[in-house]
Amino acid sequence: MLAREKEVRNTFRRFMAENLDRWDWQAAHVPSPLTKEVEESQAVKQAEKDAKRKAKAKELKKLRKAKEKAKQSTVRVAPSRQQPSSSFAAPISKEEEEKRALAEEREKRAGAAERRIAAMQNKGCAAGFADDIPCSCCNSSLAGKIPFHRYHYKYCSTTCMHIHREILEDG
Ligand SMILES: [Zn+2]
Repeated sequence: MLAREKEVRNTFRRFMAENLDRWDWQAAHVPSPLTKEVEESQAVKQAEKDAKRKAKAKELKKLRKAKEKAKQSTVRVAPSRQQPSSSFAAPISKEEEEKRALAEEREKRAGAAERRIAAMQNKGCAAGFADDIPCSCCNSSLAGKIPFHRYHYKYCSTTCMHIHREILEDG
């Protein structure tokens, strides 16, 4: 009862087992004899426990590994699984194809309209550059030049613009 360590208690109990009549063990508070048979059976039990624990640990490890493998394989399999499923959904994909075709058609038409507008704007630009229209003052070609404007007249230079204004005002 006073011995803190198990091995010390066991020593008392072992001695009790071999000397049951030599002491009042109950008064000494040594609870029970520790015989060789008991110790052996305890050792066997302990060994069995250990073996069980080991087996359990091994199984857990196996399970964990299997789970990880399954995870990895699903990750790897996932994209290849999607392909057949999408090709299986033939009616939906056909509908989608038609939708896509319509969208493409719309885009083509929108693109054509845009090109037409751009062409018109280009023409306007060309008019702005006044390829064919000469300077309203000196009659020189305005090709490739950005003309100066005054009312509906176009000039090759500010000089021409001022001269023409004076001519108009004089007239
Ligand atoms: Zn001019």
